[in-house]
Amino acid sequence: MKDVSGLITTRLKADHIAFLNSVAEVAAHNQVSVYVVGGFVRDLLLNIKNVDIDLVVEGDGIVFAEKLAEKFNGRTSKYKKFGTATLMLQGRPSIDVATARTESYSCPAALPDVEPSSIKQDLARRDFTVNSMAVKLSGRGTFYLIDLFGGEIDLKDGLIRVLHDQSFVDDPCRLFRAIRFEQRLEFCVNGPTKQLMRSAIKNNLIDQLSGDRLMNEMKILLSEADPVRCVDRMRELLLFQAIAPEILDDDFHWTIMNKIHSTLAWADMIPMTTKPEAWFIYFYTLFMITDDNVFKRMMMRLNFPGNIYGRMCSDRECFVEAMNDFSEERELKPSEIYNIFSKQSSEVVILLLAACSNKRMKEYVELYFKKYCASAKIELNGDDLIGMGMEPGASFKDVFKALRDARINGQVTSRDEEIDLVESLFLK
Ligand code: ATP
Repeated sequence: MKDVSGLITTRLKADHIAFLNSVAEVAAHNQVSVYVVGGFVRDLLLNIKNVDIDLVVEGDGIVFAEKLAEKFNGRTSKYKKFGTATLMLQGRPSIDVATARTESYSCPAALPDVEPSSIKQDLARRDFTVNSMAVKLSGRGTFYLIDLFGGEIDLKDGLIRVLHDQSFVDDPCRLFRAIRFEQRLEFCVNGPTKQLMRSAIKNNLIDQLSGDRLMNEMKILLSEADPVRCVDRMRELLLFQAIAPEILDDDFHWTIMNKIHSTLAWADMIPMTTKPEAWFIYFYTLFMITDDNVFKRMMMRLNFPGNIYGRMCSDRECFVEAMNDFSEERELKPSEIYNIFSKQSSEVVILLLAACSNKRMKEYVELYFKKYCASAKIELNGDDLIGMGMEPGASFKDVFKALRDARINGQVTSRDEEIDLVESLFLK
C-alpha cells in the first residue's frame, strides 16, 4: 500500500484537506472504516482538479452520512434500497456516501441487486481499473492508497481496462463510460477491453438498456468538454449502429457537429438572452436533424422525458422553418430577421449558425442580439390602444407586431409616431 498523504497535502485545496480530516475524525469516533473512492482518487493521482467526493463506508453508509450532516450542519437524501445517501453541505458540491457493497446482476443490463460488504468487494464491482482505487480515511493506514487491480499502473500507461470479461454484459452503460474516460483523459482502451466492447456492440447489448439509462449516458457523454471526440469514437466502434444507423451517416451532420465548438465560442461574445446548453446542441445534431421516422423512433427508444420531447419538437419545427427562410437569396429586412430569431431557442440559434453555409448568418445573429432585440421595444401598451378607441382582443397582437416591425425597421422612433402608425393602419 502506498502512502498518498503527500499528494493530498500538495494537490488538494485547504478546505478539501480539512473536510477529509473531519471525515476521518467522525469515522474514528464511530469506529467505522471510511474511504474516498473512484474518480476523486483517479484525478488526485493524475493531478486533475475534481471536487466530487464519493465516500464508501464499511458499515452503514446512511447512518454515517447523517453523522457527517450533524457535524457540518448539512442535510441528507437517503436511498435505503442501495444503502446510499447524498450529503448536502452549504457552499460545496454534494457528497455521495455509500455502504460498501457487492452487486450481482439478476439479468444482464438490469439494475444490480446489492448487499453490504467490504471495500475490497466494493472496488471489485466498479467499471475500470483507474476508477477502482480508494484512499483510506480512518484507522490504521489512513491516507494509504488501495489499488487492487493495477489502477495506478494503468493511469501511468494511459489505459482504460475493465476488471473482468463480463463487465459490459453486466452493464452496457460502461461502453459509453469507457469512451468518455478514454477521450477525456486522452487514454487508450486496452486491446482485450476493446475486443469486449466490440463484441458487446455486435451482440446488441445496448438494446437491453432502458431508454432512461441510454438517454442519461448520452447526456453525460455529450456534456464532456470535447464531445465530438467521443462521438467520433462511437462512430468508429459502430455504437450508433446499435442505436440508429442513420445517425451521422452523411457529411452534412458531421460538418455541423464539428462546427459547434467554435460556433459556441463565437456566440459567447454575443449578449444572448439565455446561455445555450452545449450538450443539447450536440444532442440535436445527432437526433433532431434526422428525418421524421428516425426522429420518432429515437424519441421512443430514448424515452425522452416530456419536457425534453416538447422542447425538441418545437425547436425542430423552428429550425426547419428558419433554414428555409435563410435559404432565400435576397437580403432580409430587419423585422424579418427579428421575427425568425425571436422564435428560436438559443440552442437552435447555434445550430443554425453551424448548419447554414450562408455567410450572412453571423451578421444576422449579431444584429438580432446586439441591435434588434433592443430596438424592438415599443412604448404603447394595451391601455393606450383602448384609450385610442380600440376594442381589446386578438387584434392587439397584430397591432403590437406592426409597431414592433416598424420600430425595428426604423420607420417609427417615438411614441407620437407609434400613435400615427396605429391610426393610419388600424383606425382608418
Ligand atoms: P466523473 O469525473 O465523470 O464524475 P467518476 O469516476 O467520478 O467520473 P461517476 O459516474 O461519478 O464517475 O461514478 C463514481 C464512481 O462509481 C466511478 O469512478 C466508478 O468507480 C463507479 N461507477 C460509476 N458508474 C459505474 C458503472 N456503470 N459501473 C461500475 N462502476 C461505476
